[in-house]
Amino acid sequence: MTLLNLLNYELSWHKRNDWDKATTLLKSFSQERNSELAHVKDLARIVRFRIDEIDAFIQQNTSIVCPNCEKVCCVNRHGYYDYEDLIYIYALGLNPPIYKEGVSDTDPCQFLSQHGCTMERAIRPFRCNWYFCNALLKHIEHGPAKPYRMFIKQLDEIVDLRKEMLDDFFRILKANSLYTLSSPE
Ligand code: SF4
Ligand code: SF4
Repeated sequence: MTLLNLLNYELSWHKRNDWDKATTLLKSFSQERNSELAHVKDLARIVRFRIDEIDAFIQQNTSIVCPNCEKVCCVNRHGYYDYEDLIYIYALGLNPPIYKEGVSDTDPCQFLSQHGCTMERAIRPFRCNWYFCNALLKHIEHGPAKPYRMFIKQLDEIVDLRKEMLDDFFRILKANSLYTLSSPE
């Protein structure tokens, strides 16, 4: 099984064998191809910085809307990284968290505390930063127009930067398919 074969939406922490292979290979690829991946890593750092920039705006809105929520969206299945998150995390030189055993997908997320998510926004699974329930969306839309327009523009730019990072990563990975990416079965 090659790294390229493993990196798709089937990859899940629940399928531990493939997950362990993929994370081991990703980590070594990221370290050993450091100079080839320099642009990917720069883009990952820019994405992180850009998500940090929108943190205060999102926080301002969630701090008003979320405390009254009756059906909190943070269930545990949303707290796991997917393969795109993993590429981003390793490009930042980080590692995924050690997930807790025995937490059901439908339980409250293992990263949820009384004060909200315990993960820094920029390294949360991407879906967490991109989910806006109707109540939150309405609140944001009904706020001042200029910050709202700015926020939408920033979101679009982050999505584009992340796509560029992933495209570049896969271009380099495919060019290295003869490299020792096959993991022992
Ligand atoms: S984002 Fe929406 S669904 Fe999630 S906790 Fe806040 S109000 Fe509830
Ligand atoms: S935002 Fe945080 S607490 Fe909510 S699902 Fe994502 S990781 Fe879990």
